Amino acid sequence: MLFGVLLLMDTDEALQCDQLFAAGLQDLVLLRGSAAYVDRESSYWAANNPLHPSCIVQPRNTEDVSRVIKVLAKANSLIALRSGGHTQWTGSNDIHNGITIDLGRMTTVTYNPQSKLASIQPGPRWGDVYEELLEYGVCVPGGRDGNVGIGGFLTGGGNSYYAGLYGWATDNVANFEVVLADGSVIDANPKSHSDLFRALKGGSGNFGIVTRFDMYTFPAHDVWGGIRAAVRGKGDELAQAMVDFTNNNKKNPEDAYIINYTFNPSSSSDALVAHVVVDTHGVVNAPAFEQILKIPVIMDDVKTRTMANMANSYLLPSDEQQVWFTLTFRNDVRVIKKAGLLHDELVEELKREMPAGNYTTQCLFQPVPTLFTEHSIQRGGNVLGLDNVKENALMWLITGSSETAEQQKIMREKLTTFYTTLDAYAKSLGLNIAWQYLNYVDQTQDPLKSYGQQNVDFICKVSKKYDPSQVFQSKVVSGWKISNVGT
Ligand SMILES: Cc1cc2nc3c(=O)[nH]c(=O)nc-3n(C[C@H](O)[C@H](O)[C@H](O)COP(=O)(O)OP(=O)(O)OC[C@H]3O[C@@H](n4cnc5c(N)ncnc54)[C@H](O)[C@@H]3O)c2cc1C
Repeated sequence: MLFGVLLLMDTDEALQCDQLFAAGLQDLVLLRGSAAYVDRESSYWAANNPLHPSCIVQPRNTEDVSRVIKVLAKANSLIALRSGGHTQWTGSNDIHNGITIDLGRMTTVTYNPQSKLASIQPGPRWGDVYEELLEYGVCVPGGRDGNVGIGGFLTGGGNSYYAGLYGWATDNVANFEVVLADGSVIDANPKSHSDLFRALKGGSGNFGIVTRFDMYTFPAHDVWGGIRAAVRGKGDELAQAMVDFTNNNKKNPEDAYIINYTFNPSSSSDALVAHVVVDTHGVVNAPAFEQILKIPVIMDDVKTRTMANMANSYLLPSDEQQVWFTLTFRNDVRVIKKAGLLHDELVEELKREMPAGNYTTQCLFQPVPTLFTEHSIQRGGNVLGLDNVKENALMWLITGSSETAEQQKIMREKLTTFYTTLDAYAKSLGLNIAWQYLNYVDQTQDPLKSYGQQNVDFICKVSKKYDPSQVFQSKVVSGWKISNVGT
């Protein structure tokens, strides 16, 4: 019957998926047009992500991943890899007419009380992980939005509310179980395949498919945190608070702060300055926020809650067209204020030029103090290249979501101008830092290059060692590839 369905497909497409059937893997395959296929294609976070592969293959466990990659490494088709499917740019996690390996069935989360390690497969969402680990009274540094996926987040860095205490989430991985292109399954940790272990901490999908992340845990506490929102006029005070917070983060590593100039015409006719405050030890009105809490707000949702509740309370809406850009700056209030002014201009332009419909903008800053890198170094290092940044920095992210492809085109044009203007402004004052966060970039950016030549060379070397046929460069084409780094 299934072979009959294959015959109804375009011959080339059928040939690609046929090889999975011939290898006896038909139980894992979702064919185009089936209800399960439609369901998975509509489960991407961004509306611009689904690309309609010839078929989707959904391994249930590590052994399945090994069987699948052995077959696909020899097939003609191009391949995409997906864990949560949360990366926002088109081509990051799906493919048109190729085959998508979808790890969404691999959702097991376990905890070993002896080793105190949590073992997490790539397919659940952070909200699920927090809930499951809470049963054991432990937690790990993970996504701040409960719907974010595991595989991309942990191999790209992973900024969490716990970064001041434990650094990037990837630095909290004790062991990666990896399926290589030849189907072999290896463990990468400080003692075994230590080069791959380091390369996977920021090196994304360049080496193999991670099928299990063993993470260090810490005791779970309630956090005190949430979102507040102030009128636009309070932006400068909140911006100064961001600079001060970043410089003091080492004294208050349990605290996290984000500021966000945002506009959502369906809920307010003006831009607001939303901000997130979190004390991960659960201290109410934590002293690190003294300056911030004095600023009057029009909305305040800060309270004592579990990390799972915090993550699951703030889910950014899915099914919208997305455009994101990111940059990194020296910790200087002038850049934040400039971004706020550019955001004001953006809002006025969108009000005038955007066709009717729902759209939202967010212009966020978050701290990247040297403290994060101190944690990375203590935990054996990664390939992010932030050890080259010797001062406290700010990570900037602009996002524009809209309903239609026509609106997305306008949004892309506007955000490209915003990004290039802010970049030029920072450069003119010597406030730019070359680093780009891989998990936030637009497809026109070059995050791996921003890790620095030494890390690029190292990632290349490790990729050639563990993937001599370069399957994860030439066939598994989704995401950021070291072979595509610009010169
Ligand atoms: C609403 C929202 C909130 C976010 N919040 C945060 C946040 O708080 N902090 C933060 O740091 N980031 C955040 N992000 C960014 C997030 O880290 C990235 O989108 C991340 O890539 C999502 O992981 P994923 O598993 O869904 O990746 P996917 O989109 O499924 O995969 C993207 C790519 O990652 C690689 N990859 C995925 N899984 C594996 C694997 N198992 N083995 C090897 N390579 C793999 C592959 O190259 C793949 O093509 C957020 C994103 C969104 C949309």
